[in-house]
Amino acid sequence: MKLCGGFYMKIGIPGGLLYFKYEPFIRTFFNELGVSTEYSTVSNKEILDLGTHNCVDEACLPMKLYHGHAAKLQKNCDCIAVPRIMNCEFGESICPKFQGLPELVASGTGKTNQIFTEPLYMNDPKKLKSALKKGCRQIGVSDTRMERAFFSASENQRNSSFGIWENGYQKRVFLAGHPYNIYDSFANLNLINKLHQLDIGVITEEWISQYEKSEALSGLIKKPYWLFFVHNFAPAMILMERKEIDGIIYVSSFCCGTDSIIIEMIKNKIGNFPLLVLKLDEQTGEAGYHTRLEAFWEVMK
Ligand code: SF4
Repeated sequence: MKLCGGFYMKIGIPGGLLYFKYEPFIRTFFNELGVSTEYSTVSNKEILDLGTHNCVDEACLPMKLYHGHAAKLQKNCDCIAVPRIMNCEFGESICPKFQGLPELVASGTGKTNQIFTEPLYMNDPKKLKSALKKGCRQIGVSDTRMERAFFSASENQRNSSFGIWENGYQKRVFLAGHPYNIYDSFANLNLINKLHQLDIGVITEEWISQYEKSEALSGLIKKPYWLFFVHNFAPAMILMERKEIDGIIYVSSFCCGTDSIIIEMIKNKIGNFPLLVLKLDEQTGEAGYHTRLEAFWEVMK
């Protein structure tokens, strides 16, 4: 591994955005490379403050949090791994902000020490491997070692199970949204715990297979373009039709263009079925949030 100022370089790994989806791959990959790493902690007030300071005001909360994770790591790390994800496993597109993430982070933090910034096509293992190989060469890791790490990381990602399917609650909802809004309990103000306190269980999209999602979308005029559309619209329709849920809670971010379309599409299809949209930003307060959940419980009765 390359030296930086006479010491082995330390790589910072921000725990925001799609880290929530690809954590098994990321951790195994860097462990197997044998490089020195530091992971940011879970999101907290310090990270949010750093993020709002380092990111443009107009950005969504998840972007601000990601900037905060990256800025925090700058203190102890020589470089920060900031992926440029172009699309996901089944070729679906994601928000353009992911494609410009290294530049966004560089302009926010004022540092240009981002690595692993080659475009990543998660649906094409050959391209993915070649992009990561370039990143590894930058930090002095051999191709052989990289190949081994890539294999183990892919295996670990494939064998890891995600998602929530809860039984035994009086009511149950489909918890829709992006993984970084659903699984970051700081960002969503501990939403899942609050739902449990109201005796509401949760199902998330990971329990619906890609095949089922594609089937559910086959009646649409056009093939959906966005990953987050597939992951939210299709499960909402399937779970509602199967009567597995009593309502849908969509955790969204202010300023999110894709969410505004997905939510409208869901509203158009579900008629009177209970739907609650919770919009998150750094100003979201606990009190109003809780009242809205209690009111939603009444609607589902
Ligand atoms: S999809 Fe929406 S919430 Fe996610 S990064 Fe893009 S704008 Fe932000």
